[in-house]
Amino acid sequence: ENVPEIELNNGVRIPQFGFGVFQIPPEGTAEAVRTALEAGYRHLDTAQLYGNEQGVGDGIRQSGLPREELFVTTKLANDAQGHDNAINALEGSLQRLGLEQVDLYLIHWPLPSQDKYVRTWTGFEELLRAGKTRAIGVSNFQIAHLERLAGETGTVPAVNQIELHPALQQTELRAYHRTHGIATEAWSPLAQGELLTDPVLTDLAGKHGRTAAQVVLRWHIQLGNIVFPKSKTPDRIRENIDVFDFALSDDDLAAIGKLDAGHRTGFDPDTFGG
Ligand code: NAD
Repeated sequence: ENVPEIELNNGVRIPQFGFGVFQIPPEGTAEAVRTALEAGYRHLDTAQLYGNEQGVGDGIRQSGLPREELFVTTKLANDAQGHDNAINALEGSLQRLGLEQVDLYLIHWPLPSQDKYVRTWTGFEELLRAGKTRAIGVSNFQIAHLERLAGETGTVPAVNQIELHPALQQTELRAYHRTHGIATEAWSPLAQGELLTDPVLTDLAGKHGRTAAQVVLRWHIQLGNIVFPKSKTPDRIRENIDVFDFALSDDDLAAIGKLDAGHRTGFDPDTFGG
């Protein structure tokens, strides 16, 4: 497939389109990953909390693809924040994945009430220096959390992975990322399927001879977001990555722009975690 790559702030390149495995049961993960890799996906997004890192590793090995052609992200579990814990937790991930190194390691949630993410980040900086991961980043960080990292540590996160879809367009955070060299990763890019009957999207789908899911994913790509939609259904896995041979017009993009409602499907990062 013709998936573009985005250069992160430390020079590492990430495929802009990948496969997310949140809520795929451990026993079905290897097969889903294999299907995605056969369909041309080369970027996999998992997490310690998803409980399926071993299935991701099995799927990679079953595919027979060389390790260097793949980009693998995992995320630190919320109960393992802290400098030493963050380091030990990545060792566990590498064992479950059967890999010597991941491509990207993320702090999953800032958990501001625990106030451990700055110490955690210093552990991430060590892991980067040790080559256990090729890049480090964060997830669900608000501007205030990014500002604290910038003030108290020396490494700008390569990415911030945030909830982002037409109903939650995150204009302010995206602008902050742009001016600070942080790539935007969009989680729940399809709002978990909630939006796909919206008439604006179904009309655009009709106009382009595509599905509403493809229109939304194409919107993300043209905005510059990194996306990794999740599906267990082989036809949808193939449908989702098939968005690199059509383009939305400026008017199409503006119509989707009007769907922004500040609507979260997931937790609020400022309050999640107590
Ligand atoms: P998503 O927006 O990718 O939606 C997935 C759901 O949409 C599927 O379960 C299915 O019901 C539907 N769907 C998928 N393809 C479709 C298609 N072609 N047509 C119709 N319906 C379709 O939601 P997600 O799984 O929450 O997010 C994607 C990935 O983002 C996750 O797998 C995970 O890797 C990541 N994520 C990260 C966080 C975080 O806190 N960092 C939180 C949630 C998700």
